[in-house]
Amino acid sequence: MSSAHYQALESQTSDEDNEDIERRQHPNHPRSTTVKTTAPHPMVRKGAVARRRCLLPLAGGALFFIAFCYFTLSGETRITLGLGGGSEDSEEGSHRGLDSIHFRPLNESLHICSESYEDRRQFMQDKPQSDYGLLPIIYFVTPTYPRREQIPELTRLAHTLLHVPRLHWLVADDQEKCNDFLDTLLNRFGIPFTHMVSPMPIKFRNEKPAPRGVANRRAALQWLRQHNLTNGVLYFGDDDNTYDLRLFSEIRKTQRVSMFPVGLIADYGVSGPVVRRGKVVGFLDSWVAGRRWPVDMAGFAVNLEYMAQYPYVNMPYKPGYEEDLFLRSIDLQMNLIEPRGNNCTEILVWHTQTKSKKMGMVRLESKYLDERSNLGALLLNLKLMGVASTTENEGRNALISKNGKEKAHSYFLS
Ligand code: UDP
Ligand code: MN
Repeated sequence: MSSAHYQALESQTSDEDNEDIERRQHPNHPRSTTVKTTAPHPMVRKGAVARRRCLLPLAGGALFFIAFCYFTLSGETRITLGLGGGSEDSEEGSHRGLDSIHFRPLNESLHICSESYEDRRQFMQDKPQSDYGLLPIIYFVTPTYPRREQIPELTRLAHTLLHVPRLHWLVADDQEKCNDFLDTLLNRFGIPFTHMVSPMPIKFRNEKPAPRGVANRRAALQWLRQHNLTNGVLYFGDDDNTYDLRLFSEIRKTQRVSMFPVGLIADYGVSGPVVRRGKVVGFLDSWVAGRRWPVDMAGFAVNLEYMAQYPYVNMPYKPGYEEDLFLRSIDLQMNLIEPRGNNCTEILVWHTQTKSKKMGMVRLESKYLDERSNLGALLLNLKLMGVASTTENEGRNALISKNGKEKAHSYFLS
């Protein structure tokens, strides 16, 4: 196992990414709980002042200049300047606030906890490792965060990934410190991995909805960029989804950007491309909200060679629009999309969600948490996993029973 440490970078540059984004929440957003009033976009405000001040000839000159820029610059240049995409489709799917976003290079605070490039799994899908040597690597990015369900979710996910050859698991934890328990767990699976931490900037934490899993996905994007990886496929796989093993063979074929339906999304129970004669022509998703690419994070994969052409690859902190803006930052065009999963007829990934509960609490005096029983070590493990903690004086005393009869725990532990 090798370990690399990046110096803590300067504080987040996310302000820059977001300064041009309307902080607007859509009332129909499936995850939004509050609706704020819409502040006018800074560019709109500037425009109004300028209109008042400018004389007619000046306005004419400006118009001519804008038209000149628009027709001379390439689509790629336009997207980096934030002037919107260069496709026929851009008019139809445009959303004013989104089209004026400025993408900038990532500069995230990211710390590597540990990593391993050695594949210690012996057999996968019934064949020895060596049979898979030439396949492109799947970089499976999993944003995760500390809560009671974190370790069980990652364990279940690891047991899926254990079957998948040629995969590097980027586990990006939304917290400041490296979790040693998670580190040990990741090492034990034998899957090549990088465990990194990159917390959500404080200012976003109390927002509703918050940009969940964005800081850590951005960190993983930065890691890919820093390693100049151009051979392989990127996939964003959240820790609570359910993955069919056939998904991995499908996404591995990605030449530029592939897409496929995701089950259990919002009102329709599905989100995914509409395909005619082998081409993507639109999207079935119950929440459009101006998104040019109304897809779920788990519904696409990107070839790294394609992504490497776009230095401004980004995922702005804009809840609900993460997928759309990421795909805009790599200048996706409709005709580039490769439909997968038997022309988008199969569900290979499910947006399962786990009900979150608060930490468990076991009331036991610390004097009993010694070698006389298993409970000291067990409760310590549960604490390290963030599942349950012990208390000396809160709530009811812990019950221990035998033959259906409850007894005071001192009876068993003294
Ligand atoms: N996540 C995170 N920080 C958070 C909340 C979520 O890193 O504060 C991760 C989470 O572990 C998951 C992804 O971001 O992998 C999406 O979050 P969640 O599953 O809660 O969102 P949903 O699927 O309900 O949209
Ligand atoms: Mn989820």
